[in-house]
Amino acid sequence: DELISQIAAGEVVERPASVVRELVDNALDAGAAQIQLKLLAGGIRSLIVEDDGCGIPDSELPLAIKRHATSKIGSLDDLEAVATMGFRGEALAAVSSVAELSLVSRFEGAAHAWRLDARSGELSPAARARGTSVEVRELFFNTPARRKFLKTEGTELGHCLEALRRHALARPDVGFAVWHEGKLVDQWRAASLAQRISEVLNEDFIGQSREVNGGAGPMRIHGRVGLPEAARSRADMQYVYVNGRYVRDKLIAHAIRSAFDDVLHGNRQPSYVLFIDIAPELVDVNVHPTKIEVRFRDGREIHQQVRRAVVAALALSRT
Ligand code: ADP
Ligand code: MG
Repeated sequence: DELISQIAAGEVVERPASVVRELVDNALDAGAAQIQLKLLAGGIRSLIVEDDGCGIPDSELPLAIKRHATSKIGSLDDLEAVATMGFRGEALAAVSSVAELSLVSRFEGAAHAWRLDARSGELSPAARARGTSVEVRELFFNTPARRKFLKTEGTELGHCLEALRRHALARPDVGFAVWHEGKLVDQWRAASLAQRISEVLNEDFIGQSREVNGGAGPMRIHGRVGLPEAARSRADMQYVYVNGRYVRDKLIAHAIRSAFDDVLHGNRQPSYVLFIDIAPELVDVNVHPTKIEVRFRDGREIHQQVRRAVVAALALSRT
């Protein structure tokens, strides 16, 4: 019922940035080439994600906002893969229980788009090109206690932009643009990884960082680590992706840190963008509803390989 879904929503939706993460995830899953984020009042008043992905057929629009409804489990074989990618069919349902949600979508080949208002369930014809727009208004309007925990609009905007940066670094092949209060804040066109990193993080980062290339067996590690002298736009430029998903992981952070200490004896916070691709059965990304934490089957092996790959990249840079 309503209360249960609001409590469940609390695990998925903490602030506007969580909504950005989920909606952009969905847009990427839909195969979008262009994703636009439009915010009012730091995303609290209004948050719109528009994509040019496959769209949702009108017959499936009501299902999209139902709990545990996911179109991403095609067969039993997919279950393992789906679990690892974190498809749980919960995001839109969770958002719609704590905000005003509407979907406008035009499916490939449909004569026009359809709009679904989550509250009334009303379905009406609409106009847009192929793809989906999800609009979320007045986040936590019906849960004042939670709304009270939101920070200033500026802080929430900052978190939204950071959520978008995390996606943008992982998918340089996709174009992103973000507006706040009608003003274009950032725009990244489809590019190479190096180009995307320099646009998102710092234009000097590429020259002041080294390429990482490592891993063995079922694991591949690549990306870039900043040299100690690397200029930075923010203190915290540490991005780790496991199988394409942004994660925060102490084990990996420690492995990188110890590689830096070994080679450079530096005392600055290292900056890095690191992608770890590993056989899905060796990692569980579903330990946390926000999908930001992972659990590895063999943590020691991961630690060793990451450390070795980063040491190799840094050691090379000194010759
Ligand atoms: P999940 O992503 O885990 O399947 P969600 O609640 O995030 O669950 O989305 C529910 C369903 O709505 C998805 O499985 C998908 O079918 C559909 N959907 C949501 N957003 C989009 C989108 N931007 N483009 C196409 N389909 C979407
Ligand atoms: Mg989703």
